[in-house]
Amino acid sequence: MEIRKGIAVSPGIAIAKPMLIDSKDYRIPRRSILPSQRSQEIQRLRKAFATAVTELERVESAQDIEENKIRDIFAVHMRFLRDRSFRKRITDMVNKELVTAEYAVSAILREIASHFAGINDAYISERAADIYDIEKRLLVHLLGKQQEDVERLREEVVILARNLTPTQTAGFDKTYIKGFATEKGGRTSHTAIVARSLGIPAVVALGDLSSEVPPDCVVIVDGNRGVVVIDPDEETRRQYEQYALQMTQFVTKLRELKDLPAQTRDGTAVQLFGNIEFPDESEIVIANGGEGIGLYRTEFLYLYGGQEPTEEDHYSAYAEAIRIVQGKPVVIRTMDLGADKLPHSGWHPNETNPVLGLRSIRYCLQALPLFKTQLRAILRASVLGDVRVMFPLITNLQELRQAKMILRDVMEDLDEYAVPYNAQMPVGIMIETPSSALTAGLLATESSFFSIGTNDLIQYTLAVDRANEHVSTLFSAAEPAILKLIRNVIQDAHKAGIGLSICGEVASDPEFIMLLLGMGVRTLSLAPPMIPEVKKIIRSATLEECNELSRKVATMDSSRQIRNYLRDAAMRILPESF
Ligand code: PEP
Ligand code: MG
Repeated sequence: MEIRKGIAVSPGIAIAKPMLIDSKDYRIPRRSILPSQRSQEIQRLRKAFATAVTELERVESAQDIEENKIRDIFAVHMRFLRDRSFRKRITDMVNKELVTAEYAVSAILREIASHFAGINDAYISERAADIYDIEKRLLVHLLGKQQEDVERLREEVVILARNLTPTQTAGFDKTYIKGFATEKGGRTSHTAIVARSLGIPAVVALGDLSSEVPPDCVVIVDGNRGVVVIDPDEETRRQYEQYALQMTQFVTKLRELKDLPAQTRDGTAVQLFGNIEFPDESEIVIANGGEGIGLYRTEFLYLYGGQEPTEEDHYSAYAEAIRIVQGKPVVIRTMDLGADKLPHSGWHPNETNPVLGLRSIRYCLQALPLFKTQLRAILRASVLGDVRVMFPLITNLQELRQAKMILRDVMEDLDEYAVPYNAQMPVGIMIETPSSALTAGLLATESSFFSIGTNDLIQYTLAVDRANEHVSTLFSAAEPAILKLIRNVIQDAHKAGIGLSICGEVASDPEFIMLLLGMGVRTLSLAPPMIPEVKKIIRSATLEECNELSRKVATMDSSRQIRNYLRDAAMRILPESF
């Protein structure tokens, strides 16, 4: 049994067989075998080689391979697989060093690959990639089910990976994928956000995870405490099964709050909205008692589809979300592409600092046809319900004016063709840079509402990459600098009399809810599965308690002190969450 500690990013408990993905990056653990197991291992090796050869023969004959290059690649693979001396090196290793077939394949092939990679000849050094492919092919046959294609799953698994993209995660089928654990990542990376939205338990930043995973074991992902247990003993497994049952009962009980108002014990009403990436998630928002969509991350339309969405693609996705929420508000954020949300690898020029580069509204303001296509669809959908548009990553007034000018251009186009739209559609912005937080008073004069995106606000203010596990302990909403900026934005929004919400992950964090209420926030937009828990906290506290807590926090000078204080307060109200 091996217990690993990472960052809890999506609550819940998953217990299932592991499935390793992106195996190219995996180091296969060195595992010993008994002398009596030698012939069994060699037998497995023979079978893996034979299956790989048959597979290649099938591929070769099935495809009309015109291109020489592809033919070359298959030929290299085939030559290796049929090469007796190569095979002998592997079997010798199993025989002499008493290691598993997987380990011998991986160790020998990686040795060959690194030899190739080190040769100062472009053609030969590129052959290293072929060697990795051969390794992968053989490991697929040796590891069997662990390496199966995610899309063809027919049994429950937890995914183990070095890292996952937001798009990969969004494609996970919850019926079979019960949880995931990754070596890299941070709490507010978009992969983590998608996991929370889908309600898939997840732990990230585990570091060198895969080398500990024996074949045919079970893995526990504890998304509440950020723990992954590999190959648990009987007792641990039993305890976790018990804990998982308690969690299910807790969640079922919280769901009973669905139709009760989100208001404090002394009657202050709070609006709870859901954050979504796909229109059908609106159902989860409503099922959890959400009062609308506070953040629709529309870039997933592009990320998931892999192609630039047409106006009709946009329109039908928005129409679907609007239909599901039946008159409740839908805040559509224009595409926030870039940084860790890239539709495909060659999407736009490589940047040294993509997070500070051509992303989000900056990209849209340069890619006008793409931006206008989306705005047309949003405007057309605006007559279907209570639609509001929101621009991400606004840093100054000029940028907001530019975006609004383009919106007006699109309105004029629609006027020309007499296409109906809501000319009074509220136009808001996300406050997610220190620049916009500090000039919120100015921005408020030309915005209908603000939504504070704490994920990016923290990243940009503290200079901490939100997706980098090496600095994840520095990423904290409890830093006095962050709280000061949030207070500033709230005050400026209130002074200007415009709407204000928080849609960053802090709004899903049970520890921060009382503080946010005490600071004056009355609208939160969060991961849909977290709505009941947040509602429970709101219904358990009085506004006076929240105000008092906020006053105390304002006198504290360190993130650690603030965090401990908030945690104690939240634990008193909802011990089951901790
Ligand atoms: C944020 O930055 O807090 C936010 C809500 O936007 P995203 O997480 O999509 O960057
Ligand atoms: Mg953001």
